[in-house]
Amino acid sequence: MGFQTDAVHAGQKPDSGTGAIMTPIFQTSTYVQEEIGKHKGYEYSRTQNPTRHAMEKNIATLEKGKYGIAFSSGLAAISSIIQLLEQGDHVICTNNVYGGTFRVFDTVFKKFGVLFTYTDTSVKKNIEEAITPKTKLIFVETPTNPMLTLTSIEDLVSVAKAKKIMTVVDNTFMSPYFQNPLQFGVDLVVHSSTKYINGHSDVVGGIAVTNDDQIAQKLYFLQNAVGAVPGPMDCFLVLRATKTLALRMREHEKNANALAAFLQNHNRIKRIYYPGLSSHPQHELAKKQMSGYGAIISIDLGSLENAKKFAESLKIFALAESLGGVESLVEHPAIMTHASVPKEIRESLGITDGLIRLSVGVEDEADLVNDVIQALEKI
Ligand SMILES: *Cc1c(COP(=O)(O)O)cnc(C)c1O
Repeated sequence: MGFQTDAVHAGQKPDSGTGAIMTPIFQTSTYVQEEIGKHKGYEYSRTQNPTRHAMEKNIATLEKGKYGIAFSSGLAAISSIIQLLEQGDHVICTNNVYGGTFRVFDTVFKKFGVLFTYTDTSVKKNIEEAITPKTKLIFVETPTNPMLTLTSIEDLVSVAKAKKIMTVVDNTFMSPYFQNPLQFGVDLVVHSSTKYINGHSDVVGGIAVTNDDQIAQKLYFLQNAVGAVPGPMDCFLVLRATKTLALRMREHEKNANALAAFLQNHNRIKRIYYPGLSSHPQHELAKKQMSGYGAIISIDLGSLENAKKFAESLKIFALAESLGGVESLVEHPAIMTHASVPKEIRESLGITDGLIRLSVGVEDEADLVNDVIQALEKI
């Protein structure tokens, strides 16, 4: 089926008791058994929940995967993936990875003897050179946040497959609508469903998707054993949101394209980062592995003062962390989302004090462009 048909229907059928077209919120912790050990496939809601199952199946289908394993946040999903490893195992990770991902790797898992190497995975040779006999997993974010650097998924898979190393792509920025890494042979895709998948800024959630039976069984085991599961109400909200994912992503991108085209010629902008622009160094790769360019744009305004003036002068773009919701947001990575990254590393990645990240929402294009015009005039 096509993406939109799957988005509306996959994983869901009318409730057998009532005919309700929407999957109910099974707000229950336990399930009554007919006899000892005889049940309907549901025993306890950490282990199984029908609302969660519908949501897992729905997102797995959209990501072109067989199995979806849902968690209470994106970081819970990422943490459970690392818990597939053993002490002494080595992980290669994109250097400009989401700050919370770096934090849990560096402060929690390192303590248990998992080793991490951070490198610019956009260069194939860097991945090859980072591999050791202990390397078990390569964790890539593409595009990255906030620099919008791409890693070639094809290169990643070719390097890893030859050495039987598991590959994981954090696909949060693209959503399953614009990029499907499993189709390139990646082993696992992970999402913070908090962002585009839910898209309404009212749920924190995460999900891992795979086609590999063994990885899926191990992750279902961890989901139950560790217990970082989403509640039924959150699953219901995410399931409702995926029905409009395609519609939202198209609007997000239309607005982002218009804004990027306008911004790239503006004299107050020192640099602009958006994979949809032909000036983006990896525009050709973006065309190859993504079916759209998403709606995150970063701009360098040259100084902290300019960045502050701009961000604080915007009227429609709200000053807030997070991204991927229907409402447009603006944030200052160096002070807000990436403050925990040491300044030298930030600057080497391009996260200067003048850098601003825009998460372009689905408001009217003209209103967003006008908002940016008036804020740029203030600097
Ligand atoms: C937000 C985010 C995460 C973490 O997800 P939470 O749902 O906030 O735990 C991971 N990766 C990326 C790319 C993100 O944007």
